[in-house]
Amino acid sequence: MNRPFILFLYLLLAVQLPAFPSDCFIGLNGPGLKVVLDPGHGGRDSATKAESFYEKNVVLNIALEIKAQLLARGYEVVMTRETDVFIPLTERAKIKGDVFISLHANTVPERIGPSVRAMIKGMEIFTGMNMPESILLSKSKRLASCLWNSLNEVEGMNVRGNVKEKALAVLRPNYTPAVLLELGYLTNKEDLAFLTDRYCYKEIGTAICNALEEYRKPE
Ligand SMILES: [Zn+2]
Repeated sequence: MNRPFILFLYLLLAVQLPAFPSDCFIGLNGPGLKVVLDPGHGGRDSATKAESFYEKNVVLNIALEIKAQLLARGYEVVMTRETDVFIPLTERAKIKGDVFISLHANTVPERIGPSVRAMIKGMEIFTGMNMPESILLSKSKRLASCLWNSLNEVEGMNVRGNVKEKALAVLRPNYTPAVLLELGYLTNKEDLAFLTDRYCYKEIGTAICNALEEYRKPE
């Protein structure tokens, strides 16, 4: 090819490139889903504690990792808190998005006895009851089921039983499809090691991202 023709092609491409439809860059534009991440408790509400670990700190660390992974995949993320502050449940529930994921960690009460207490482990997934609209509950159930499938694949962690329904204060008044995840038991040594290990945060983050990829596929 002669030089003027190469120059012509170059100029043609230079003019055409910005005019490509934005869908060509979908990986950069992201999937257009706004995720509300709600690390439970905070501030004066430390919630449960095992050894030196408070639930409020454990779930915030994990939430920040999930946020980083979601942003990297192009999701929009809103956090109900990013620092150790107290936010009332009703304020959290007011934050609207396409999905709302509340993150918690469990403990078994001391009255259960030390041997049984130490044995109980695993994640739990809840949807609310009596949400403001029935479509919200059905979408929440679908989200919960995607999360159940994905989190069950995480090595070193299991999900206890099926998705459960519970009248939880942060889910009931929520106008966004919402679930609450109990990420494991701080009173179980294996779960505690998992929930305080940076590598395991990444596993949880990846599983949640994968669940959302599944959730956003057409039904
Ligand atoms: Zn909690």
